[in-house]
Amino acid sequence: MRIDVITLFDEMCETVLGESIIGRARRSGAVDIRCHQLRDYALDKHRRVDDTTYGGGMGMLLMAEPIALCYEDIIREVGERPHLIYMSPKGKVLTQQRLKELCAYENITILCGHYEGVDQRVLDAYADEEISIGDYVLTGGELPALVLVDALARLQKGVLSEDECFELESHYNGLLEYPQYTKPKVWRGENIPEVLFSGHHANIEKWRREQSVIETAKKRPDMIPSAELNETERALAERIIRESTDSPLREPAQKNS
Ligand code: SAH
Repeated sequence: MRIDVITLFDEMCETVLGESIIGRARRSGAVDIRCHQLRDYALDKHRRVDDTTYGGGMGMLLMAEPIALCYEDIIREVGERPHLIYMSPKGKVLTQQRLKELCAYENITILCGHYEGVDQRVLDAYADEEISIGDYVLTGGELPALVLVDALARLQKGVLSEDECFELESHYNGLLEYPQYTKPKVWRGENIPEVLFSGHHANIEKWRREQSVIETAKKRPDMIPSAELNETERALAERIIRESTDSPLREPAQKNS
């Protein structure tokens, strides 16, 4: 997958995306990530890319033309029109499910807004979707874009090693991950569950699956109705939800009983 990021802060993005797992994946060619400085497409010698909003009001907006020119340059370079995502608090909140779907695109371009946002006309002309990272507002689209790039990159082949496999992690299968432990075996008097050093793989798998269900029922009961569970697991989850005093699903359950 190739991901292009249109931003006012290309160096900030490069720094973050040059580190750790994503940095390694870029160097090995498993993902192709390029950050573009929007000011390179400014129309004047002061490299200005923002202006005041029509109709009044505080704050500045990113102008349409530099964004259009930058994206059109990317289109020429890539040889097709990449799926253009505008990071925005008005967008659909990002989920692991949407990330899986986005993996179908070979080419994605991410537009980072700044100040008050972006001239609507360039969004109408080019944006294929808007994605939010949560119901709160940040000063710019860079942190949200980095979240999206990181989450997409780790799903690409060759980015995670086999022992870092994403299929068992929280959200991938509609459940949260089971608790995990590392050395030492006893930490400040606390032991680890016996089954984990039994060497019995089937039992370990069974324990982990059950713990996943318990963890999800306790921490995210809202995920349980759509999780794929067998009858025993569903009964377990529902019992935990009923027993938990601060669960949002507790109230209706109480009223019915
Ligand atoms: N005036 C806008 C907010 C602008 S915030 C409004 O009220 O909707 C400045 C930029 O930060 C946005 O253009 C967007 O790119 C980015 N941004 C802020 N919060 C975000 C969020 N929750 N998710 C994704 N992008 C966000």
